[in-house]
Amino acid sequence: MTMAEHTEDEQRTPGKAPPRRMCAGCGKRDLADGLVRVVLGPDGALAIDLADSKFGRGAHVHPAVDCVTKALRAGFAKAFKAKVEGSIEALSDQIVEAADRRIEGLLAGARRGRLVVAGADSVRDALNDGSAELVLVASDAAAATKFSEIQEAIGQGKAVAWSNKQHLGSLFGRDEVAVCAVLHEGVAKAIGSARRMALPFAGSRSEAWWSSEVR
Ligand SMILES: [Zn+2]
Repeated sequence: MTMAEHTEDEQRTPGKAPPRRMCAGCGKRDLADGLVRVVLGPDGALAIDLADSKFGRGAHVHPAVDCVTKALRAGFAKAFKAKVEGSIEALSDQIVEAADRRIEGLLAGARRGRLVVAGADSVRDALNDGSAELVLVASDAAAATKFSEIQEAIGQGKAVAWSNKQHLGSLFGRDEVAVCAVLHEGVAKAIGSARRMALPFAGSRSEAWWSSEVR
């Protein structure tokens, strides 16, 4: 174990201040939770680690196009002590894809643990009894947003757009799901975090899928 990794572990001890990391782009230190973790694979390619699974040597970067662009120019090479190949376009795609996979994984885990409900009626019940921590609305599910409970959740920033009805349905073993509600605070926070990381990079690439607002 290197000294750097040892320090990282110590900083994760509960009760201590949350870990801070330097952004490989702008060079500023910030809370690790708000930074995208990038790892260098054995093949020399960059990979995104949104689950903070700690594999490989990692560098951190703000979820901002400017910071990633700068990091690609010099910061990553310095952090990894290696030549780093990559373009902002490719890395943007990777971040968005990593966020999609992360949200899918979190929803699958939540489904196994019965910590998520799907469908407008179940979501409205969960909003009414206060058990809904986060509502995901398919970007093509305009009909679901007309319910007052869901309107209210949108107003509170508790409902966010992600994916489409067919894809969301596939995660629940149904043809289509317009809306689902996560009932677990930690899972809801992790989904919110993955979304925040990806939004600056979604751009026009998948505007409907990654809309910043529920429409
Ligand atoms: Zn930065």
